[in-house]
Amino acid sequence: MDKEPYVGRFAPSPTGRLHAGSLAAALASYVDARAHGGTWLIRIEDVDIQRCSKESALSILDVLARLEMQSDAPVVWQTERFERYEAVLKELIENGMAYGCSCSRSEIQKANLALGREGMIYPGTCRAGVQGAARAIRFRTHDEPITVHDRWSFPFTQCVESEVGDFVIKRADGNWAYQLAVLVDDHDAGVTDVVRGADLIDNTPRQIQLLNALGWDVPRYMHIPLVLNDRQEKLSKQAGALALSDDLLEETERAWTHLGFERIGADRLSAFYPVAIEQWKEKFRI
Ligand code: GLU
Repeated sequence: MDKEPYVGRFAPSPTGRLHAGSLAAALASYVDARAHGGTWLIRIEDVDIQRCSKESALSILDVLARLEMQSDAPVVWQTERFERYEAVLKELIENGMAYGCSCSRSEIQKANLALGREGMIYPGTCRAGVQGAARAIRFRTHDEPITVHDRWSFPFTQCVESEVGDFVIKRADGNWAYQLAVLVDDHDAGVTDVVRGADLIDNTPRQIQLLNALGWDVPRYMHIPLVLNDRQEKLSKQAGALALSDDLLEETERAWTHLGFERIGADRLSAFYPVAIEQWKEKFRI
C-alpha cells in the first residue's frame, strides 16, 4: 500500500527566543513528520514586522540547528512573500470573499458592543459597500458551523460569523494578518499536517473558511497542550518566558514529558530521536 504523503512544518514567530512552549511545538511537529516518514519544514513567521526581529529569527534558527532538527527545504521567510499574499488577496476580493473596510476601532465599538473570542465582533458595516476610504481588508465569514477534527483532542466547533465576525486579513497599517499568511504559505509548501500549540485551535475554523473560499485542501491538525508558567499563563516573551538553558538534551527531555511521555534518558540527541519516533508511532498508531 502506498504511504500517504506527509509534509509538516514548524512556523515560529520571531518575537523572542525559543522557549519551552515553542520547543514542545517544534518537537511534536518534527517527531510526527519523521514518524510518518514525511518531510519537515521550517518557516519564519515574521509577517508582523513591528513585533518580529531578525535577531530573534536567527537565534531560533541557531537553536533548531543545535537541536539537530533540520528542515528538508530552505527556510521560508514570510517577509519575502508579500507579493504572493497580494495575489491571493486580489483573488478573494474579486470573488467577493473579501472587502475593504473603512471602520475605525471606535466606530466598531459604537456600532456593536458584542464581544467575541478575539475582542469586538465586527458588525458588518462595510459588508455591503465600504463607507469611506478602505483602511483594512476583511474576510466575509459565514455561520455554518466549522468543526476541527483534531488528532490530539476532541473535535472543536465554531460558528465563525457569530463568534468571531468578519476578520481582518490585511491590516489598516498595511501589514498582512497571520490568518492569511499562514495558510497561503502552508498551501504553497504542500503542507498536509499542521502540528502546533493549542492556543491556535481557536483560529483554525477561520483558516478553514479561508481555505474553503480558495478551494484549497484542508490539512490535518494536531494542537498540542500549552506549556504554562507558574501563574498558569501561556509562555510568551510578554509573560516573561525564560530562554532555554544550554543543556538542550535536558530541555528536549522535558518537552517530551510535557507531551505525555516518560523521559527517554538518552545521552545525546541523536540517540533521543529514534526512540522518541518509535514511541510516537505507537501512541498515535502511525
Ligand atoms: N507563528 C505562530 C506562533 O509562533 C504559529 C503558527 C502556526 O503554527 O500555525 O505562535
